[in-house]
Amino acid sequence: MLYSYLTSALVIVGAILLSGGLVLTRKIIKNLPVPDNRWRMMYLLIIFFIIGYIIFTLAIFGEPISFVVWVVSSIFLGGGAFVLTVTYLSSKTISDVRQYTQLENEHYRIVTAQRRLETILDNVAEGIITFDQGGNIQSINRAGEKLFGYSQVEVIGHPISILIPPPNIIDAREGYLHHFMRTEIQRLIGHEGEVTGRHKDGARFPMALKVSEIKLGDDVVYTALAADISERKAMVEHLRVMAEHDGLTGLHNRTFFHSQLEQFVERVKRTNHSCALLYIDLDNFKYVNDTLGHAAGDQLIIEVAAILQKRARKTDVTARFGGDEFTVLLYNVGPEQASKTAESFRKSLANYRFRKAGETVDVGCSIGVALITPQTQNASAVMSQADLACHLAKRAGRNRIHLFTSSDSENVMAMSLDMGWSQRIKNAIDKNRFALACQPIVNTRTREIESYEVLIRMLDEQDELIMPMGFLPTAERFGLSADIDKWVIVNAIETLIQQRRELPKLHYSINLSSQALTDLSICDLIMKKLKSTGLDAAALTFEVTETVAIADMAAAEKFLSRLQAIGCKTSLDDFGSGMASFAYLKDLPVDYVKIDGRFVKNLATNSVDQAMVKAMNEIAHALGKQTIAEFVENEASFVLLKEYGVDYGQGYYLGRPDMTLPCKAIMEHAGGGVACYVERPPGHKKISR
Ligand code: GH3
Ligand code: MG
Repeated sequence: MLYSYLTSALVIVGAILLSGGLVLTRKIIKNLPVPDNRWRMMYLLIIFFIIGYIIFTLAIFGEPISFVVWVVSSIFLGGGAFVLTVTYLSSKTISDVRQYTQLENEHYRIVTAQRRLETILDNVAEGIITFDQGGNIQSINRAGEKLFGYSQVEVIGHPISILIPPPNIIDAREGYLHHFMRTEIQRLIGHEGEVTGRHKDGARFPMALKVSEIKLGDDVVYTALAADISERKAMVEHLRVMAEHDGLTGLHNRTFFHSQLEQFVERVKRTNHSCALLYIDLDNFKYVNDTLGHAAGDQLIIEVAAILQKRARKTDVTARFGGDEFTVLLYNVGPEQASKTAESFRKSLANYRFRKAGETVDVGCSIGVALITPQTQNASAVMSQADLACHLAKRAGRNRIHLFTSSDSENVMAMSLDMGWSQRIKNAIDKNRFALACQPIVNTRTREIESYEVLIRMLDEQDELIMPMGFLPTAERFGLSADIDKWVIVNAIETLIQQRRELPKLHYSINLSSQALTDLSICDLIMKKLKSTGLDAAALTFEVTETVAIADMAAAEKFLSRLQAIGCKTSLDDFGSGMASFAYLKDLPVDYVKIDGRFVKNLATNSVDQAMVKAMNEIAHALGKQTIAEFVENEASFVLLKEYGVDYGQGYYLGRPDMTLPCKAIMEHAGGGVACYVERPPGHKKISR
């Protein structure tokens, strides 16, 4: 009975062990990294073993338990235990190997990723430094080594302050590293900030630094991205200098100056210190441009800028405000000191001679001075005061200073009206918005038109014509007359060239302003134009009024002689208008005398006028000059003039100013739409009764 139970127990345990072996073998087959048929064979063998075991169990079922049965059962049990042990150990080994392989793979992946990261870090342009909470450097990439000049071994373990030193000596204290780690780092976490870096050789450089904080368990690691920004800063500085300075002279420019002026005005209000603004405009600068060329003009501006800069104190702000205008801000000066300084600026420019290609030009300037006091409204107000003062200095004759006073403001309205006009005239000069009208001058004997007097008209913004009285007085006040004269000279010569193709003997008579007498460039322009067009100089007569000539006899004599030397004719306009006309006549180098129209207008009926005209004509003839009578308004006067021996007549009766030809040219220029009036088409024809 005992044997029976024992055998049954052996059979059951053997079956369990074999089944366990079978299960483990199946698991092994599944887990094998590479399929292996030997394990499948093993699997089949265990199945055969189990089948044999089942057959054996069925065969002995109900049989008495013999010793052999017992032994065989024990062998089956041992075999089962062996199979289970072998399969268990194999399965465990395979699982271990598998885990190990996985770990190996993982390790390989990590190492590869790390290498890749290291390569990237070493190749980025920025220096990357990692350091711990205590500020001790843990790593530095190759760019960092290059940036600071240290190798990895020289910095790892050292405090970050060897690369980022205290910004100044005061901060170079013991606890700087601690301070840096506590406060500076917080400022730089997540934000790019500017710090000073130090190279191994001790050189300091501006550096952009951005820090990120990484928490590793309880530890914190900081990663700093560092880049040398010396070049970037130099570029920004260069751009700033360009934005604040004038390209030609290197002085401050208008924009910068204006912002400084605003600050001065505010400071004066706070501190009660008065300052002054000088507005300097060169006198007759255009003469240099016109005669020596624009490049010489530029050179002169550069030299003037250097003189002003040298003359100014360190605290003064000097700027080129525009074309030939300069401004100086004088800090902490009263009215007297400001005038004195302005005077010294004026003198330095008055003593300066510009030399170019063997020519020497005197350069002067007019200076407007305006004080900046706590009562000053704003920068623009003081600017216009200085500008106005400069205009007043120009009006007073140039090469002088004018200190703006409250009484000047009474003139502001009139001046600003005038200034508006001066701007319009300047625009008209720039945009060529003038027209010429020609009035015939008729020979009293032959009744033929031998010449035309050229008269100017200005075109306003609506293309309406403005007569000379509407703009010439303002032009005179603002020193623009010489520019208008030049426009007339150039355009009259070109028109005359065209007209002489049909009328080869035609002459033009051109009026010159008082400013022309002192403007040497006018003669140069006439010569240049005659040379380039080939026009006979004798075809041009230049008229100067008696009042203008008498105002500066020396200049008039010199100027008219120069014109005669070129071969041009000269004429004294409005003769008789002054009290001492006869006294001056003999000294003036003129070919023609134009008898003032006041004596001619009523010639036919006024016996006094008749006597005057006769006398004037005789004296002029006695001095070898020809005569022209203006304002001939009827046939009777014309007949009388012929009778008295006056050579030429001019007036509405003989022909009104006519704009056909010049007008056509100007209309083409303005694109049409010019309102011009033509009383009579021009022509070289006889005037008949
Ligand atoms: P005024 O005595 O009334 O001041 O007359 P001006 O001849 O000095 O002429 P104004 O001040 O009215 O005009 C200045 C001229 O300077 C106008 C322009 O032709 C010339 N200009 C402006 N900028 C430059 C420059 O950069 N270079 C040169 N060469 N000329 C300039
Ligand atoms: Mg000027």
